Amino acid sequence: MRSLILGQHIGNWMCRSSIERNGKVAVQFRKGWQPVSDEKRRMLLTEEKAELLAKHRVCYICLEPLATYEPNEIEFDHIYSYADGYPQDLSNFAPVHCSDDPRRRNCHKDKGRKSPLEYREELRIRTSLQAITGLKDLCPKAVPSTYEFSPDNSQITFNGVVLPLYNQRINGRDNYYFFSRS
Ligand SMILES: [Zn+2]
Repeated sequence: MRSLILGQHIGNWMCRSSIERNGKVAVQFRKGWQPVSDEKRRMLLTEEKAELLAKHRVCYICLEPLATYEPNEIEFDHIYSYADGYPQDLSNFAPVHCSDDPRRRNCHKDKGRKSPLEYREELRIRTSLQAITGLKDLCPKAVPSTYEFSPDNSQITFNGVVLPLYNQRINGRDNYYFFSRS
C-alpha cells in the first residue's frame, strides 16, 4: 500500500486535506497545483558561514571587503536562484553586505529581486558611466586644441594655423568643416 503525505505533489496533482464541519478529515486531490518549491531556503550553519567568509572575503556584489562588517551586517545570498532550480549546496552561496546602518553598504537590499551576478554587472556599468566626466575620459589620448572660429571670413585658426573654412548648408542649417594636417 502506498501512503501519501499531505501536501505532496504527484506530477501535476497535489494531495491535501481539509476538516469538514462534521469533524471528518477530507482528503482531496486536485490537479493543476504547481509545486511551489517545497524546498525551504537552506539555513547555513555558523561553520558554513565562516567557511564562505574565509573563501570570499569580499562582498559578492560590490567586491569590496567584508572585514569591517559585523556578522549581523552580512547576508549569505544564492548566487543562482534556487527558485530557478539551482542547487542549494554551499558553493551556490556567497556573502554580501547587508547593513541596516544607512552609512554602510546594503548591497543585498539594493539588488532587489535581481541575482547577485546580474546586479553586480548593473553596478559595474553604472559606476563606469559615473566615472565619465567628459570627452577626456572617452579619448584619453586626445590632445587639447585651441581654435578661433571666423565664419564671416570663412576661416578658422586652429592651433595657431589659419585654415580655410567650408560651409555646407543642410536643411537650412550651417555645417562648417575644415581640413587640418595635424
Ligand atoms: Zn557590497
